[in-house]
Formats: sequence, structure tokens, C-alpha cells
Amino acid sequence: MHPKNEGDDALPNFKPIGDRPLDAILVSHAHQDHIGTLPVLMRRQPGVPVFMTEATAEIGTAFLHNSVNVMTRQREELGVRLYPLFTHREADRAADQWRLCRLRQPITISGERATRADPGTLTFEFFDAGHVLGSAGIFLRARGLTIFYTGDVNFDDQTIMQSAVFPDEKIDILIMECTRGDHATAADWTRAGEERRLADAIAKAFQRGGCVLVPVFALGKTQELLAMLYRFRRENLLRDFPVYIGGLSSKMSEIYDRRAHTTRRQLPRLQLMADVAPFVLNGQTIHDAPARPGRVYALSSGMMTPKTLSNIFARRLIENPRHFIFFVGYADPLSPAGVLRSAQQNDEIALDPDEPPQRLRCNIQQFQFSAHASRESLVNYAKRLSPKKIVLVHGDPTAVAWMRAKLVSELINCEVNVPTPGVELEL
Ligand SMILES: [Zn+2]
Ligand SMILES: [Zn+2]
Repeated sequence: MHPKNEGDDALPNFKPIGDRPLDAILVSHAHQDHIGTLPVLMRRQPGVPVFMTEATAEIGTAFLHNSVNVMTRQREELGVRLYPLFTHREADRAADQWRLCRLRQPITISGERATRADPGTLTFEFFDAGHVLGSAGIFLRARGLTIFYTGDVNFDDQTIMQSAVFPDEKIDILIMECTRGDHATAADWTRAGEERRLADAIAKAFQRGGCVLVPVFALGKTQELLAMLYRFRRENLLRDFPVYIGGLSSKMSEIYDRRAHTTRRQLPRLQLMADVAPFVLNGQTIHDAPARPGRVYALSSGMMTPKTLSNIFARRLIENPRHFIFFVGYADPLSPAGVLRSAQQNDEIALDPDEPPQRLRCNIQQFQFSAHASRESLVNYAKRLSPKKIVLVHGDPTAVAWMRAKLVSELINCEVNVPTPGVELEL
């Protein structure tokens, strides 16, 4: 689903599927843009098996039920009559159809329209994508062709997640994300250096009597940030201080904690909820939570969508030059986070269209802790595989354009496709 749009506009374009029955749905991970409308698709495709990793299923269940609550509230607050797009019952029923897969477990499915001449079988395998807990790239074999879909991927270690383990064998068609295609990585960037910079910035904000708001995705960025704060305290870069997160983020963090010992990750013994012990805010308590100095508020949504915790809280501190907002990952350029990130001091900004605009007087800083692969690492991976065709997905137009031009010039015999939504692509 489109995380920035509302109602009908947020739904994927299901039209090209028409009445054709699907043989299977494969889910790469549980971020909203990948799983947010799964129950809607399943309502249109009763009985279709849905494959995902066990961690994605656990996160996805919590996530979809939370979405029903959010959409129900939005129906009342924003009057989006189409909401909720699905019910708690449908979210439960959808989960009954989910088939849990281990990484590197080959699974074969036979098509509905299989014939003896063309059995229509397809085999697939999930590979660790290193993006968030449960995330996977998907390797498919069908009719003598191999196809690899990266999903959302990271080829570098994060503070918790370890880098992707992707296939190196011959692949005919590579379907690749390119979220960061419009940004070059600074030559001197290292994760360790960036962590140090963040610790220093927090210390400075506290010294100036301010608090720090970090808008984060509930899944992934929240847990990575909590793990960083844990390390800052343990390494005595910062003294102990209170940390606040949202309700959904706490649920996601509990899943990270429960699965810590069975996950390939860093800091396997770290229990975020016990060791970092964040305070948990929700849709009610956020309204009474003052912006207290010396505290870090790691609140979702990452794009600061109106009515979410990060948006409500940002409006409380945006006009106060003592306070700080730190951006640590991707935000759609047109989302409130994207707008705020590129704004200048004293600009007038409407973070919520239902509220009066405000003057930007607080301090804005940016850090690079993206959970997505750098464009350099994506190009390197594509060169190593040297596929016959590449299909570019999951990027803003400028990101896709850079990746396309780069790949066309670097891979002479490769056909690089940028698919048009709704138009069938012959592989
Ligand atoms: Zn993602
Ligand atoms: Zn995504």
C-alpha cells in the first residue's frame, strides 16, 4: 500500500489481476508498503496460500491489527469513509492462510492451470535480506528461468541486523529495489562514525536544555535506534536518560526480543524492552506528554503522517529553538517529514493540514542510518550477478532514473526495465 496516501489512493492497483485466480502470494517483509493491504487482496482471492518467513508473520499479525485500529480512528477523525479497509476478523482469517517458511527452504507450488506439457510448477526460496527482522529476498525458478527479487535489502550491517546473505549463482532476471538511487554515499561515511556523530548530537542537545525527537518506523528503525542508545550508555558516551517510544513500536520491540536468540543478528543477548527500558506513549497519553529536556522521543511514524505520535509531538516542539528533531532514514519527499527535512529556519510549515501552520525554530539534523542498500552496493550486486534483465522497483522517479542510467552503462548486455504500473511485463 502507499503509506502516504489515504483511502482508495493507498490501495495497490489490483485491476490488472482482474478475475484471474492467483496461485500464491509471496511477502518479502512486514513493512506497511509491503503488507498493509494484504487482507484486501486475500478477500478478492479466497483460498490463496500466502508465503512469508515466521518473523514476518508474527510482526505482520501485530501490524495488521494495529492498522485496523488506526484506520478506525481515521474514519472518525478524518472522515475517510472507506476505512477500515479490513476488519480484525479479516486480519485473523488472513493469517490462517499464511504458510511460514524458513530461510533457504525450497518450496514448490503447482499452478491452477497446470497441464502435463506445462506443469506450471514454480519453486522459490527465501534469502535473508538484512533490512528488518524477518525480511527476505525471494529466489524463483520456473520454466528453466531463475528470477531473484531483492525485496527491501541492506548489504551493510546495521546495529542489530546483519547484512543480507543473497544468492551469488546465475540469475536470469533480477528484480531490484532502488530506494536510495538518488543519493550517493559520502566517501567518508561509516556506520560507526555516524553513530558517534549521533551520540555527540544528543549530548549537545541535552546540554542546551533541549529534548530530541527522532521520527522512526515502528518496525526496524525503532529497534536499531534503541540498540544504539543502549550502546551509547554502555560505552559511556552518554549518561542514563529516559527514552520514549510508541505502543506499536513496543510490540515490535518485544518481537525482536522474543526472537533474539533464533535470529542471525548483532547483540543477540540484548533485550530492548528490559535493557533500554523505554517508556511507552500511546494515542491518548501523547496529548499530555510535555517535551521534557534531556529525553529522546523515538516516535512513529517515520514519515510523520498527520495524527501519528511523531507528528503530534513535532508540532509541540517545532517553534522552540531549544529542541531538536533528528532524521535518521528515508522519508517520502512530499510527506511531512520530507517537507520538514528540507525546510529552512523560520519557514512556515503545516505539519498537519487540520492545524494552523507554524514557524520552524527548532533544530533539524540529518543522519544516515537507512535500512536500505546504498546505490553503490546495489550496482555492485547487479554487476556480480550480471543478469540478462533487470527490473527496477521501489524507488522515487529520480532514484529509478539514476539506477537505470548507471546499470545501462555498466552492464552492456543487460536489458534494464522500469515497469509501468498496471502494464504486464513479458519476462
Ligand atoms: Zn521495508
Ligand atoms: Zn518497502
